[in-house]
Amino acid sequence: MNKKLLEVQEIRFRYNSAFALKDLSFELTAGEMIAIIGPNGSGKSTLLKCVSGLFQPEQGNITLAGKNIFDYTARERARRVAVVPQETALAFDLTVAEAVLMGRQPHLKPFQRETPADVAKVEAALEQTGIRSLSQRSVPTLSGGERQRMLIARALAQEPQLLILDEPTSQLDITYQGEILGLLQRLNSHCQVAALVAIHDLNLAVQYFDRFILLAQGRILAQGRAAEVVTDENLRQAYASRAVEIIVNRHPVHQRPFVTVYPKQQQAFEPSGRKKGAVE
Ligand code: ADP
Repeated sequence: MNKKLLEVQEIRFRYNSAFALKDLSFELTAGEMIAIIGPNGSGKSTLLKCVSGLFQPEQGNITLAGKNIFDYTARERARRVAVVPQETALAFDLTVAEAVLMGRQPHLKPFQRETPADVAKVEAALEQTGIRSLSQRSVPTLSGGERQRMLIARALAQEPQLLILDEPTSQLDITYQGEILGLLQRLNSHCQVAALVAIHDLNLAVQYFDRFILLAQGRILAQGRAAEVVTDENLRQAYASRAVEIIVNRHPVHQRPFVTVYPKQQQAFEPSGRKKGAVE
């Protein structure tokens, strides 16, 4: 049976005068993966920070496993929710294994040293993310993709029920992007870890996620399956632009929505590829 893990009810949040999130509501069941999509400034990061317990909404409730997220201590929350932020300052010179071991902290008592069971969990996280061979490498020497895997391994070592990732693929080349999302998908199906992921690349996201929440100006414009959310109408409304046109077709291989963006003033081709009043 599907168990409700996260419930977001009518939340509103503002930094200064303007609301960055307005009356947002959604639910995530245990083991579900949701992609949060939407243009820059639509509120994706702010939403993830509220759900992570970093920002407290002015109104509304966020409930995790039946309890208000702000009623957990930070340590209790970290045993249930692991966050992979967009930018992480990892200037200090740890090995990969040491950095991943930091994920065990919420499970240790103050001043308690890690036990063999903690070390085994770190090894399992390194194995699951495919970076066991890098365990003694110094973190600053990692490539973007390796570093992203290390951050996911550290989050997994926390043994969370929910992983929150803010733009996990934005710094990566196209093959690493697919690898990281494929890794998330495997972790989700093998370990039943739920995931809430802000992601910009719609064509990538439709291949890995079953559920989408489209944000525009701090509100949910649409939520549901790819075919219901990633539509011409929704995207044109969310990403309203005078400069570019958005067309959504069905991808010939995977049959999911496929988004094409082209300049409005150069409508040289119809989606079929037929030439149409080409610009000189
Ligand atoms: P996204 O992640 O979708 O790009 P954000 O959540 O970062 O959107 O931003 C939502 C809105 O909140 C934007 O209008 C942005 O300018 C504003 N905002 C974000 N962070 C801050 C901040 N620290 N102070 C003031 N306004 C902010």
